[in-house]
Amino acid sequence: MSATTLERTGRGAAFLEAVHARRNAGGALLATNFYNAETLLAVLRAAREAGDELILQTSPSTLAYLGVETAAALARAAAREAGVRAWLHLDHAADDALIERCLEAGWDSVMIDASEAPFDENVARTRAVAERAHASGAAVEAELGYVPKLGQREATEAGFTAPEEARRFVEATGVDLLAVAVGTAHGFYKREPKLDLPRLERIRAATDVPLVLHGASGVPPAQWRAAIARGVAKINFATEIKDAFTRGLRDALAGGEIDLRKTFPPAMDAVTELVAGKLRVCRGEGGSV
Ligand SMILES: [Zn+2]
Repeated sequence: MSATTLERTGRGAAFLEAVHARRNAGGALLATNFYNAETLLAVLRAAREAGDELILQTSPSTLAYLGVETAAALARAAAREAGVRAWLHLDHAADDALIERCLEAGWDSVMIDASEAPFDENVARTRAVAERAHASGAAVEAELGYVPKLGQREATEAGFTAPEEARRFVEATGVDLLAVAVGTAHGFYKREPKLDLPRLERIRAATDVPLVLHGASGVPPAQWRAAIARGVAKINFATEIKDAFTRGLRDALAGGEIDLRKTFPPAMDAVTELVAGKLRVCRGEGGSV
């Protein structure tokens, strides 16, 4: 794998090329959220060891925590040092000012999430962001239908993406990637989710843009593979990373160690192992996850 492409010039085009190439190869790109230097280094190590590439995502709350410039500089430097081809993506943004700051700071791709608004308003907001992002060379993801946020109700069919609306939405907005609601939710599941695969097939038939699966934590690998086979080309993976890191850290702290260079590594190892398994699934390989 060549050096990082977290560069500003033509970044959105290179990012989309990678997503399409992965879909054409029968796989998906894994999009991992990072929260601090340790989770960033841990996911990059998994990609480096596999000779793979990945998408590094930041949510607005992570950017409020780390700072926009710090997050961008950290991600670029860490990817370069790891020798991993990686892209920086803004996850679930609703604030125009934050989107603007990220575009100026060189994000490869941004997600505008107006999924809770009525269809026409979602179209209008998404189209405006797409125009702005495309003008600055970045790619755009939007959500149609509704994937429940953390702590909200479970996914219901009423919130699922309608295939015909997906076609109209993509045409009216010019988005490059479409996040779909087909039975997943953010956070932990109370019971195993079951993806609406026939619906996913109809969405794929209705539009050619790569589809994005949110809320993939806790979804069994067989369902990841089934989703990939039906046009999902980007899989967002966050909750299990936080969980693995926190569990590892809790164990490491139990012995009373105070040297941070010793307490963090076991937590980072847990994240690396977890992500390595998910990268295998996204490449279309067997193996445990
Ligand atoms: Zn999401």
